[in-house]
Amino acid sequence: MIITKPRDWDRILANMAEVDARRVFIMGCGQCATVARTGGEDEIAEARRRLAAADIEVTGWAVGEVACHSGGTRLETRRHSGSIEEADAVLVLSCGAGVQTVADATSKPVFPGLESVFLGNVVRHGVFEERCQMCGECVLDLTAGICPVTTCPKGLLNGPCGGMWDGNCEVVTDRECTHVLIRRRLAEQAREGTGVLAPKDHSKQLKPGSVNLRGERGKGRR
Ligand code: SF4
Ligand code: SF4
Repeated sequence: MIITKPRDWDRILANMAEVDARRVFIMGCGQCATVARTGGEDEIAEARRRLAAADIEVTGWAVGEVACHSGGTRLETRRHSGSIEEADAVLVLSCGAGVQTVADATSKPVFPGLESVFLGNVVRHGVFEERCQMCGECVLDLTAGICPVTTCPKGLLNGPCGGMWDGNCEVVTDRECTHVLIRRRLAEQAREGTGVLAPKDHSKQLKPGSVNLRGERGKGRR
């Protein structure tokens, strides 16, 4: 899931001031941002309190099923078209993908209410960890299912680096070095590994990504 965190309120209020917004509609997200406790009903209530304290009226709010779903978000904006029409701006408590989906669905100025920080594994309720940066050229087959691109703070494919000390990472010092973990797991599985990993092909990460499963097979995939 996409992990988000609250955005600096001074910046949000500056955004509102830029368009002279005295009335605002708030849109949340029923998926990732609700689970991350950044864009569900409780956080919308907090946003309403903060906007009221700044003398900004909230014309309405909604938590759609998934903010980044174009069809669902268009439906949600139609459902609340009256309250959105009354508003000078829309504040979106979702990841950047959701903000853009809302911005496509209304002609009102749309502003992000959160920062999007990473694609996160749910370790347990309320605890998230970054394990994949979607590099487009996965090496987990060679690294015993441990991602060096993401879990090594330096993103080193081949390590450990010179700073590793007593098996621990020199950057995140309370964690074992990713490359120690990789080698241990490979050994536990009686695998030798493949030696030095080749440099990554960063063209695999060219943006923007797109996949079109409706067209000719494979067309539109990157
Ligand atoms: S190598 Fe790491 S960042 Fe790349 S796809 Fe695999 S898990 Fe994700
Ligand atoms: S100690 Fe290991 S995990 Fe930490 S930065 Fe160096 S190679 Fe990466």
